[in-house]
Amino acid sequence: MTQITLSFDNGPDPDVTPQVLDVLRRHDIRTTFFVLGDKLRERRYLCERAHGEGHAIGNHTYNHLVPLGMSAAAGMATFEIVRTQELIGTLAHERRFFRPFGGGGLLDDRLLNPEALDVLVQGGFTCVLWNAIPEDWVRPQEWVDRALQQCFSQAETLIVLHDIATGAMNQLDRFLNLAKDRGARFTQDFPESCVPIERGRILRPVDRYLSRAA
Ligand SMILES: [Zn+2]
Repeated sequence: MTQITLSFDNGPDPDVTPQVLDVLRRHDIRTTFFVLGDKLRERRYLCERAHGEGHAIGNHTYNHLVPLGMSAAAGMATFEIVRTQELIGTLAHERRFFRPFGGGGLLDDRLLNPEALDVLVQGGFTCVLWNAIPEDWVRPQEWVDRALQQCFSQAETLIVLHDIATGAMNQLDRFLNLAKDRGARFTQDFPESCVPIERGRILRPVDRYLSRAA
């Protein structure tokens, strides 16, 4: 049995997020949107809609410019995480989902720095990583095959897609149909292996995600 958890990063986008929500509604699939504070500021209504339709809203930093693990600037990680969480406000999941970003989706020491880790632990955040990244932003027309390959090579997949204006989400319906045809089951739950920190408690080693720069 192949189980797939969808997640959408870097939104909300005024055109693409509603398109994604329409497709998910047709397929009766619930997911998590990891949003940017800077975009949420102007487009909260999109997160309200997603939340109202049963999707979870997670924190994906405010600016998404410099991976937290590549910055040693004091206060930067705190601002990026805390300010975004304030903007998410009542739309936040009680587990306070946070997803870091790095370089090209690699799970390495660009994801976090010591200050970020401290904010996550003190703030009771749940850190949500991933185990499939079909690079929909690199090949917006050709990510589906790679995504299927990744999903069907393991029992539980947490896949990262992006509700941004690349055109990639025009393929979302096709991806979901193909995955369903091959027997995939969709869930909103995250595979345990993708969640190193749960409500501020470090459950599995985070050293490999942590730069020592700061
Ligand atoms: Zn991102």
